Amino acid sequence: MSADSLYQQLRGQLAYLRLTATAEALPSHLDHAVKNKLGPSAFLTRLLEVEVTATEARRHAGLERFARLPAPWRIDDFDFDAQPAVDQAMVRELATLRFLDDATNVLLIGPPGVGKTMLAVALGRASIDAGYRTYYTTAAELAARCHRAALEGRWATTMRFYAGPRLLIIDEVGYLPLAGEAAAALFQVITQRYLKGSICLTTNLGVGSWGTIFDDPMVAAAMLDRLLHRSVVFNIDGDSYRMRAHRARAERLRPGGGDAKRR
Ligand code: ADP
Ligand code: MG
Repeated sequence: MSADSLYQQLRGQLAYLRLTATAEALPSHLDHAVKNKLGPSAFLTRLLEVEVTATEARRHAGLERFARLPAPWRIDDFDFDAQPAVDQAMVRELATLRFLDDATNVLLIGPPGVGKTMLAVALGRASIDAGYRTYYTTAAELAARCHRAALEGRWATTMRFYAGPRLLIIDEVGYLPLAGEAAAALFQVITQRYLKGSICLTTNLGVGSWGTIFDDPMVAAAMLDRLLHRSVVFNIDGDSYRMRAHRARAERLRPGGGDAKRR
């Protein structure tokens, strides 16, 4: 067989196996191997590395699309000095993702604007980067989706969906009251993940007032019980970061700038 038809056969095999990245890299890698007198193993390793990298990138992009994180925040974007109520060492420990191994939950509790969503999303990002299936939802979205599922006879499938991800982020529990079916949906999601898969949940409600957003205080108590059993809890009581930025801006714009405040 001539070198040319061998080369064509090789291209054909790569195309058949859908090794597109390898096929594309083949000519330049062959040249490189000849020029540098690479042995077959060195050549193949170098060539397949291209495919491995491409596969990893595809997988990462898939996880990223699936997760639906609402922002690109990372842990390093979080200004810990501005929020002393947040234990930086604890956040860094969580970012190692060891908490996923024993299905520990993370609860971020505090008023609006203190960085709860930011921290939850940053943990989600770390989890995606480590290759874990991650999913972000707000409590309201979860309730709406479960409501549709109930109407369309897909409740069980939808519950399996929420059981799937290695990390499930449930943002904004407590902004809207959850009654009846919505409370039942959240309760079931929490129950089926209990001791099996981590939930990172953010809420503006102190643990003591969970009863107020659920029409059934027993359900609220049972949910909290499961969430807290194995958990890391952040009580963030500081100032709103948004308001702080807003105040700083207003301060700068005021005649006399920052001095105005001291007078
Ligand atoms: P919450 O979910 O608690 O209401 P967010 O996480 O949405 O608050 O934060 C509100 C805004 O303030 C976002 O734009 C976020 O990036 C920013 N922010 C909050 N806390 C911090 C912080 N410590 N460092 C940097 N940005 C912050
Ligand atoms: Mg938020």
